[in-house]
Amino acid sequence: MKLIDLHTHSTASDGSYSPAEVVRLAKEGGLAAMALTDHDTVDGLPEAMAAGEEFGVEVIPGVEISAQFPGGTMHILGLFVEYHNGRLDQRLAVLKQARIDRNPRIIAKLNALGIPITMARVDRISGGGQVGRPHIARALMEAGYVQDLQEAFDKYLGWHRPAYVSKFRFPPDQALAMIREAQGIPVLAHPFTLGLGSASALKNLVIELKGLGLAGLEVYYSEHTPEQEALYLKLARELDLQISGGSDFHGLNKPEITLGSMPSQDKLTYNLVEALKAWRRREYHLGRKV
Ligand SMILES: [Zn+2]
Ligand SMILES: [Zn+2]
Repeated sequence: MKLIDLHTHSTASDGSYSPAEVVRLAKEGGLAAMALTDHDTVDGLPEAMAAGEEFGVEVIPGVEISAQFPGGTMHILGLFVEYHNGRLDQRLAVLKQARIDRNPRIIAKLNALGIPITMARVDRISGGGQVGRPHIARALMEAGYVQDLQEAFDKYLGWHRPAYVSKFRFPPDQALAMIREAQGIPVLAHPFTLGLGSASALKNLVIELKGLGLAGLEVYYSEHTPEQEALYLKLARELDLQISGGSDFHGLNKPEITLGSMPSQDKLTYNLVEALKAWRRREYHLGRKV
């Protein structure tokens, strides 16, 4: 059985392994295909694609875009995005700049609380990729202010906590549109993080998003309960949405997740990739070879 993982992160965003290392780990985990879906960037894709050739893993170019959704977290995956022409990169540059501007503001808040963390230290921890709150959390841990990463978010960095700084996000329609402009497949990631109270509220939202271009649901995910998985599968079938799934691998930044061994890994098989490819060919009128 050919197994897959359509949701992973590298040092191009907040993962701890380089894009090539993630691909190597996918190979070691026995995966036939994986998507690299870094937050708000396609910078890791060339390296990942090259590593895919080297290690014999099919690498699907992806991205995970954070969209505005007050009261919850809305992440939209773009699978099979065209990243060579620079257009998607250009659209995402706004988010990149917003993220860059945000870190010094978080550090300033921590400094004002009497915590002497520096941006230089956080940059070094990040290993040269996109710098974000997980790296600041590691700096807090290193300096002994918290025991673990979760405590850093609970005490300082999370929403409504003293060092929280809000960030710019695209409205959902724009996030969906930019993925479609790149001939990608927009998939709603980990639907439970939307924080919707009921299945009917989720269904209504998904119907609305489908009207704006959504094409798939992330049914299988490391943190989905069997009940959530069943609900999302039913919803995908009812609304004629593509089925996707992945671990949300972040390397050492989420050590409990490893490649190739997530819950429901046996359901993440290559036929999902075939179905996604077929959808994409139909939707964008592409040739058989794509
Ligand atoms: Zn996410
Ligand atoms: Zn993710």
